[in-house]
Amino acid sequence: MNKGRLIVISGPSGIGKGTVCKELFKVDESLVPSISWTTRERRKGEEEGITYFYRTDEEFDRMIASGGFLEYAGIYGGRYGTPRDYVEKRMAEGKNVILEIETKGAMEVMRKAEDVCSIYLLPPTMRVLRDRLVSRGREGYEKAMERFRCAYDEIDLARAYRYVIVNEKLEDTVQSIEDILHGEYQNPADLEERIKTLKEETEL
Ligand code: 5GP
Repeated sequence: MNKGRLIVISGPSGIGKGTVCKELFKVDESLVPSISWTTRERRKGEEEGITYFYRTDEEFDRMIASGGFLEYAGIYGGRYGTPRDYVEKRMAEGKNVILEIETKGAMEVMRKAEDVCSIYLLPPTMRVLRDRLVSRGREGYEKAMERFRCAYDEIDLARAYRYVIVNEKLEDTVQSIEDILHGEYQNPADLEERIKTLKEETEL
């Protein structure tokens, strides 16, 4: 059996990574999620062992000390980490494992692991992203705007990823990821111009 691949998907908060991944798991059974550990509180509708493994700071520290994370990072007041054993086990079973993680952790994975398929999702416009962050009402206006300001800095990092997709329509994005996995995707030719325009149009 062939070993599975490691796929990293990142993008600014509010881009819709979760929705994209959910759809991918529906259409492609070779794909499985990596389930991260987090110290943040469980939100309504989330489940232990499905969305995350919810752990205390002490448990998280012990996992770091034992080298149990492939990567970990702190963001928005919580800590998040990818459990190494889980990912390696699924890859050994021939599964392609998707890590839906923020950029700092993603860079660490790209440094440590070979042949990582790294994908960054960009918004079509910054206004779309801001509206999504504010209207999903998960954490109130100020927190949503804090995430939006992070997004402004973060989109520059798209260049560090092997593939970049403009996430406009869910089905197109899912198709692009399938194309990437089959070696049939090319990054947008105007990528630099796009990143520049996204930054210029941002009103913080
Ligand atoms: P949320 O709290 O909204 O579920 O996630 C916040 C951020 O943490 C998102 O950008 C998500 O992709 C990222 N994240 C989730 N799990 C991990 C992980 O294991 N490692 C890293 N580095 N980031 C993660």
